[in-house]
Amino acid sequence: MRPLGVHTSIAKGVHLSIERAHKLGCTALQIFSHSPRTWVRGPIDDREAGEFRRLRRCYGYEHIFIHSSYLINLCSPDRTTRERSIEMLLYELKVADKLGVQYVVLHPGRASGQSASEAMEKLRRSFRIIEQRWDGSAGILLENTAGQRGDISSRIAQLAEIAGSVTGGLVRGLCLDTAHAFQAGYNIATPQGLESLEEEMKRYMPGYRIRLIHLNDSKAGFNSGLDRHEHIGRGGIGIEGFRVFLSYPFFRDIPLILETPKKSEDDDRRNLLAVRRILETVEQSMR
Ligand SMILES: [Zn+2]
Ligand SMILES: [Zn+2]
Repeated sequence: MRPLGVHTSIAKGVHLSIERAHKLGCTALQIFSHSPRTWVRGPIDDREAGEFRRLRRCYGYEHIFIHSSYLINLCSPDRTTRERSIEMLLYELKVADKLGVQYVVLHPGRASGQSASEAMEKLRRSFRIIEQRWDGSAGILLENTAGQRGDISSRIAQLAEIAGSVTGGLVRGLCLDTAHAFQAGYNIATPQGLESLEEEMKRYMPGYRIRLIHLNDSKAGFNSGLDRHEHIGRGGIGIEGFRVFLSYPFFRDIPLILETPKKSEDDDRRNLLAVRRILETVEQSMR
């Protein structure tokens, strides 16, 4: 079965995220490098990083992702915020290298009152600085957004423009969030919607692959431009919609990470079970 996991907590030590994922039966996982809603961050402890790498080998986790901070906005109209965002993303990349993680997932940015072209220009400049300063091995996956006011990354053509503005291989591919795609007007719950998404990927981003899927149902309506996540099967995409999505060849075999609502680990268990059941029916129908 394809790699499947959830976002797990790094509370009390980054290595514990792997134990938590293992306990839930995950075969992939995503973490934050620090608390994603604050600029405060400390160095990652050497002992914890070593333990992270050891546990990872021991359980055989191939697919681990870092989700970057929500505060990062590389195209902010505010210079200080841009500078802090650059420093923060460089920090995330460093943590990734320290942990042996290949990819850092990034929401490219919000225009916050500027025109899309002004925002895009600032984003380009920020990326150039990051490229000049980054000589490690981890890279970035650009994530599609829901198209909320000011988003400049909800369309594949926009993501292509962003990726195209970075030259040195810092951007390694895309992370496709199913809820965001649905909210931005890509109907991934139907074969026709998936065909047009595949067609846009091939037209605008032929050199890039989707390396991660954030599998979330949507609490907000189709094309609503609102970023609201929902438990698998309880939102606008629904169980049948996910069955259609997960059977579609172009998106098959890509690791799946759930970012569904979570009050306790039972929520993760339920959502993982729902996805495993869908994957079983998909695999049976392929036999
Ligand atoms: Zn996401
Ligand atoms: Zn979201």
